[in-house]
Amino acid sequence: MSMNPQSQIRSALEQEQFLKILSREEALARFEAALFPRAVPSEKRRLGDALGLALAEDITAPIDVPPFDRSNVDGFAVRSADLAAAGEGAARSLTLNGETIPCGTAPRMQVAAGTATPIATGGPLPRGADAVVMVEHTQPAGSDAIDVRRAVLPGQFVSYAGSDIARGEALLRAGTIIGSREIGMLAACGIAEVNVARKPRVAVISTGDELVQPGEALAPAEIYDTNGAIVAAAIDENGGEAVFLGAIPDDEAKLESAMRSALAEADMLVLSGGTSKGAGDLSHRIIGRLGQPGIIAHGIALKPGKPLCLAVCDGKPVVILPGFPTSAMFTFHDMIVPVLRKLAGLPPRSDAKVSATVPVRIASELGRTEFVMVSLVEGRDGLIAYPSGKGSGAITSFAQADGFLRIDALADQMPAGTEAEVTLFTPHVRVPDLVIVGSHCTGLDLVTAQLAHAGLIVRSIAVGSLGGLAAAKRGECDLAPIHLFDDRSETYNTPYLVEGLELIPGWRRTQGIVFRKDDKRFERLGAKEAVAAALEDAACIMVNRNQGAGTRILIDRLLGGARPEGYWNQPRSHNAVAAAVAQHRADWGMTIAPVADAVGLGFIPLAEEHYDFALVRARKDRPAVQAFLDALGSDEVRAALERAGFRPAQTNKS
Ligand code: AMP
Ligand code: MG
Repeated sequence: MSMNPQSQIRSALEQEQFLKILSREEALARFEAALFPRAVPSEKRRLGDALGLALAEDITAPIDVPPFDRSNVDGFAVRSADLAAAGEGAARSLTLNGETIPCGTAPRMQVAAGTATPIATGGPLPRGADAVVMVEHTQPAGSDAIDVRRAVLPGQFVSYAGSDIARGEALLRAGTIIGSREIGMLAACGIAEVNVARKPRVAVISTGDELVQPGEALAPAEIYDTNGAIVAAAIDENGGEAVFLGAIPDDEAKLESAMRSALAEADMLVLSGGTSKGAGDLSHRIIGRLGQPGIIAHGIALKPGKPLCLAVCDGKPVVILPGFPTSAMFTFHDMIVPVLRKLAGLPPRSDAKVSATVPVRIASELGRTEFVMVSLVEGRDGLIAYPSGKGSGAITSFAQADGFLRIDALADQMPAGTEAEVTLFTPHVRVPDLVIVGSHCTGLDLVTAQLAHAGLIVRSIAVGSLGGLAAAKRGECDLAPIHLFDDRSETYNTPYLVEGLELIPGWRRTQGIVFRKDDKRFERLGAKEAVAAALEDAACIMVNRNQGAGTRILIDRLLGGARPEGYWNQPRSHNAVAAAVAQHRADWGMTIAPVADAVGLGFIPLAEEHYDFALVRARKDRPAVQAFLDALGSDEVRAALERAGFRPAQTNKS
């Protein structure tokens, strides 16, 4: 394929601009070298105000804890030698001394041979005593003596001074996050104030004319500012104090003034967007004017995240994250978190990692360290890591993923079957109770909602019908939702099942033609007539579906070989078809009734599609599978499906 002149220019520009692409390691090393070593600013805090902060210094115990030898039980302080010969048949009698030692009272009398002193839990052991007998193991013998019928070892029920914390012992290290346990240790030592690292104030700015803050209305061509919220949260998660300054339009003067005032107030500045050097990409140019040494790396061999820009302006780190939210997240965690934690006086983050098998081949770009998000499910022998990314623009992949794996810059793929190390997003693996892999449908959410409310973890991985079938055959899921039309038998789904799989009827979705309700061309027509009318009007644009979609088969049949304008617009979802028509990018397309209703489009029904489940028979007895089948057959879920525009199929309630 030859390039058109415009893309030639663009690619030449890109080459010039990213000429000095650094490896991930090199970029990080240069960034850190420009910032460290430096002292972590600290401040004194009262214990109660230190929660969640990092200690700025090592703390040595100033006293012994407990400060004296202490009784652990209610009983009598004794000399163990007096009771050496005591036993079931040999009671020893001890005379009680004339004092009792409750908590907080210093003993005055010595425990002489043949005597005992009553003592409470927490009371200091009197001179002469070396052990304590529990009150339950004694009998009163008159008013001023006790009988003991068991021997005691020296030290029994005594906590010695300094046995918990010894004076001079390292109590807590610098960098420790102060939680309730740490506060307890400090309080036990009588420490009322500690030196904590002052949280670095990190200013956060989103850039882009298209950005709108959540809570405000979205105009055409606008999107919600996602990075502002994630970056601010990730800063707080890693020891910083985020100050979100909103989204600034792509306007050089406005952006420069926002960056200047941010840097005047904050210890660090994190921007997002505008790094790919399109017409509106200005931040990197402004950085050159903000301080020395300026840009350290722009263009790093990471995927996602190549446009990441790292700079230092007069000692303060300035970072521009890529605009796509997932790219922004990965680069932030991989390249910015290490620096932020150092500034915050925290030790490097210790990520939890697990080993898992990758069931499918993952292609990778040579020369860039690549991060791939994965969902973990339990396979026949061990964990399986499904790549769950939908491309760098997809934010949901983060929510559905359990962690990520890294493909080395020198590899062009990760072969199927690779045992890979997965870095977890949370400290623990949460293996789902039910795994559904295949085609996604909004109706599915209505079934799984029941399970989620019952406390079951359901993982639904959308890979399409065929991908789901393959996963089911490998035994990697419990159920594969499918809607596959078989041309020869003119039936859905059943012809695709193999040994070990069983078909569970799901529901029917009505497919039909969508159009805008005010479009008179389609008024009162049947589906075939509507398509004929559309084909007659050269100005009428269609939106198609991707190859392999069940809907596509229906469309091609209706078109009968015609290729009207819009045929090559082939989105991968029902919702995208509805959006294209609603937004006037197309005039008609085919989607399912609930989706058309949700967007308020006109709908001409054509055919019913069967959305069923291929159940892995070997997994049928699992409680979560049974719960799913029960939910699917329940009156409640069937009613909910009907309300949403689906027609539940006959399900065996057995
Ligand atoms: P840019 O780096 O500014 O060219 O942005 C690349 C892509 O990321 C564009 O599709 C932007 O609309 C998108 N993007 C940039 N900033 C944000 C943000 N704060 N939230 C969500 N998407 C963004
Ligand atoms: Mg932008």
